[in-house]
Amino acid sequence: MIRTHQLSYQYPAGPLLVFPDVDVPQGAVLLLSGPSGCGKSTWLALVAALLAPTAGTLTVAEQALGTLKNIAADAWRARAIGFLPQKLHLSAALDVQQNLALAQWASGQAEDPARIHAALSALGVQELARRRPSQLSGGQAQRVALARAVLLNPRVILADEPTASLDDEAASDAVGLLLDTARTHGATLVIATHDARVAALIPPGNNGQIGFQPLQLQRNQL
Ligand code: ADP
Ligand code: MG
Repeated sequence: MIRTHQLSYQYPAGPLLVFPDVDVPQGAVLLLSGPSGCGKSTWLALVAALLAPTAGTLTVAEQALGTLKNIAADAWRARAIGFLPQKLHLSAALDVQQNLALAQWASGQAEDPARIHAALSALGVQELARRRPSQLSGGQAQRVALARAVLLNPRVILADEPTASLDDEAASDAVGLLLDTARTHGATLVIATHDARVAALIPPGNNGQIGFQPLQLQRNQL
């Protein structure tokens, strides 16, 4: 679940971003759309407790975020949030298996090869475990990054521009994969995008997810 109230963020020497309130139940899908620069990535960073709001309140996965301090925020994020960033940030020096192990270490857990194998298998990329990121196609790399995002069974999955630079077929695959993965985990899914194709890729009935909400940000809300 994600609930915000009068949320805003002021970049130092940047714009004041004022966000509409949302109330997204656990397991639902939020499509966060709007033109480039309207604040989508900033909103995701607030929900992931990577940024602290300038004003307003937000509750994510039952946690009121305003009160979290840095270390607690890091621990909470590792457990609660699966982030699929726009730039995937796979370590080029490590193979796929090691990239996922790194995520386990970063969350304070021991490496768990069985769990890594299960996460890669669920996304159909288990045979790529010993490849380096440079040996993956764009679609394969995105699947690996999504496997990493859901490795710890997060309550909330945040995807930032997951269809950027993908052709129609690959964009459709990417959105389908996100919906399926979120449903499997019972996770709330946010897709932040300026890609007008994405809305049409979320099927009627919403793939069995419990609810769907569009939230359109406007540049003139800045
Ligand atoms: P979107 O993801 O919708 O394209 P962003 O959240 O990245 O939008 O950015 C929203 C606005 O905040 C833009 O005007 C952008 O230029 C500005 N912005 C983003 N990051 C910073 C920053 N670190 N410092 C100052 N302004 C920023
Ligand atoms: Mg963005």
